[in-house]
Amino acid sequence: MGKKISIVVSVYNEELGLQQFYDHTTPILQQAHENTGWDYELIFVNDGSKDTSLEILKEFAAQDEKVAVINFAANRGHEAAMIAGIDYAAGDGIVCMDADLQHPPESIPDIIKKFDEGYDVISMIRTARDDAGIIKRITSAAFYKVMNALSGKTKFENNSSDFFAISRRVAKVLRQDYRERVRFLRGYVQNVGFKKTTLEFRAQARVAGESNYNIKSLIKLSLNAICNFSDAPLKMGIYAGVFSILAAIILLIYSIVQYFLNKQPAGYSTIIVVLCVMFGVLFIILGFISEYLAIIFAEVKSRPIYIVDSVITKDGEEQK
Ligand code: UDP
Ligand code: MG
Repeated sequence: MGKKISIVVSVYNEELGLQQFYDHTTPILQQAHENTGWDYELIFVNDGSKDTSLEILKEFAAQDEKVAVINFAANRGHEAAMIAGIDYAAGDGIVCMDADLQHPPESIPDIIKKFDEGYDVISMIRTARDDAGIIKRITSAAFYKVMNALSGKTKFENNSSDFFAISRRVAKVLRQDYRERVRFLRGYVQNVGFKKTTLEFRAQARVAGESNYNIKSLIKLSLNAICNFSDAPLKMGIYAGVFSILAAIILLIYSIVQYFLNKQPAGYSTIIVVLCVMFGVLFIILGFISEYLAIIFAEVKSRPIYIVDSVITKDGEEQK
């Protein structure tokens, strides 16, 4: 039997661009089927859209047997949507991509080629991005620098994206063993092992609508990613403590000497500055400990990563 590729597309309020995505992607997949023998399925995960995205997706499913729609009971975020798609996918290879055509479907034939060459994890690397300003570029580069510095053995591709492809074997590992509530999906996909490779793509500007990520959610994502892959911040307390004691000893000696020289010890402003610095360090450390605590809390509660309302295919709608 021929092989099959599953395309997982997360959708949140994408009514303006969905038709274009579908019209653009389907011929590429059909062509790839003819050229490579890989059949396809197109899995849309509706992540609790508040616009008419679901109606549009239902129409796709009604006329196209290759389309399946997983409809969430509520918005759970992009990664949860990708995980649901991976759980559902039946293909030998799975490609996760955005619904806004920022991830070019033109790359899919190249991905299939990599699967045929025996690769299990294919990270798509952004070479250029038409959508992002200089600030986003710099912060994103800095983020990967920090991640790689802090995370020890695990290494991350710079400029990796939520556009990636995994084989059936990797999907199985994710389904069974990576059910983390707080996670950095593209990070652990790169670090499960197996045979890895990268492909390059140029990120286009969004076809329609607006980005759902804002500064707040990016900071949250970065913090979670760091706390997920590294325990370095937990050790900050020890370094800060050792440093403070050393500083205290030096200050003590200085003060004693000053006393015997009959000079006034340093005054009020010094105390205030030291106090502020010390409390600053203390609260940052406390903040990091709280981050880890929050992650543990979420894991211990072990609530579901996503909740499916219904699955829609050409055969009809199945309530969950
Ligand atoms: N998305 C989602 N759930 C969300 C937010 C976004 O499924 O809560 C989807 C969105 O529809 C898109 C992809 O995730 O297909 C990436 O989102 P977006 O384009 O807003 O992010 P950016 O490309 O700007 O990083
Ligand atoms: Mg986008």
